[in-house]
Amino acid sequence: MAKDVRCEVNNCLYWESGNQCGAERIIVKALNGKKAEHSKETDCETFEAV
Ligand code: SF4
Repeated sequence: MAKDVRCEVNNCLYWESGNQCGAERIIVKALNGKKAEHSKETDCETFEAV
């Protein structure tokens, strides 16, 4: 279980200073429902724009 999620998406509701994710839990899926082969092909579904 990840306890220390670093994230640079600073326009997310859950983003906290120091590039920390403050969400209780996050859901990450493969981009566009395809089989991911690289990190670029994954996507945080918990993201909420502010
Ligand atoms: S919910 Fe996802 S996008 Fe938002 S800060 Fe956490 S890891 Fe980043």
